[in-house]
Amino acid sequence: MSVVCLGELLIDFVAMQHGVSVGDAYSFQKAPGGAPANVAVAVSRLGQDSAFLGQVGDDPFGHHLAEVMDSEGVDISGLRFSTEARTMLAFVSLTAEGERSFVFYRHPSADMLYSPDQVALEVLNGRKIFHFGSVTLIDDPSRSATLMAAKAAHTAGMLISYDPNLRRSLWPSDEAARQGMLTGLNFAHILKVSDEEVEFLTGGHDIAPLWRQEMQIIAVTHGAKGATVYTRKSKHHVPGFSVRTMDTTGAGDGFVAGLLVGILEHWGDYLTPMESIVRFANAIGALATTQLGAIPSLPNRGAVDKFIKGPN
Ligand code: ADP
Repeated sequence: MSVVCLGELLIDFVAMQHGVSVGDAYSFQKAPGGAPANVAVAVSRLGQDSAFLGQVGDDPFGHHLAEVMDSEGVDISGLRFSTEARTMLAFVSLTAEGERSFVFYRHPSADMLYSPDQVALEVLNGRKIFHFGSVTLIDDPSRSATLMAAKAAHTAGMLISYDPNLRRSLWPSDEAARQGMLTGLNFAHILKVSDEEVEFLTGGHDIAPLWRQEMQIIAVTHGAKGATVYTRKSKHHVPGFSVRTMDTTGAGDGFVAGLLVGILEHWGDYLTPMESIVRFANAIGALATTQLGAIPSLPNRGAVDKFIKGPN
């Protein structure tokens, strides 16, 4: 039972002041991040086996990230270290509402140079779910590496999960972002998108244009309002949990991890209990907003179970 996540692993520097731009902030808290890496850590904290595929720089940040992933119990035997480029950095500041603005350092960064011949395909062996995002779809060679791994996972009979997390400033244009993000849909059995991403990808609020032949589940997240999950036969809106939000970084990744762990726990019949799986995913998304940073705020299984049970 396990999940392989492929993508970027980076350092987030989160501004310690709220409501300021990254340029105006004067102190930052260092936190490991990268959407697919966050998912790998969250899956592990929720009690399922996980592995990570990707590339960091052969530099102090890259080695620190490897140590963090390893200490979280994530299998990093497929993590590569580049001597050509440094680990990606992202400076993040939060508006008064807890939304994020980013400045990325990747000119290029090690994750962008991850190439098909570096993908440790043996890590897929015996695992059930392959998860990827859109940041490694932006440039080659990481684009080819990501698509090659997704194809290999598909051939191996794995369930493929995709979160086309929108990072507008990383793409050359909105149209390139749209086309690039849409490419990933063709490989996905499970799609996680936010309201903003549905609008960006379709130009409206209807998810119908996002279905692809092999897709089974589309989960649309609505921030504090929760999520709506669609299967070919059903649609459930599942309200979110009310929490004291500090920083929404990692909410979507926590949600994805909850969704995937729920699917693993109902392997064979995961479509039927989709509403309760999404409730579980909402709880992880909510808890992930209660602390600064992504990986530091992802809850463990005990915390999630206690939170869902409520105070009594
Ligand atoms: P993303 O981080 O990908 O933009 P969302 O912001 O929609 O995704 O968050 C994903 C999930 O996390 C939501 O569906 C919800 O369950 C939970 N969540 C996010 N923000 C909050 C919040 N402020 N309060 C409670 N739950 C939240």
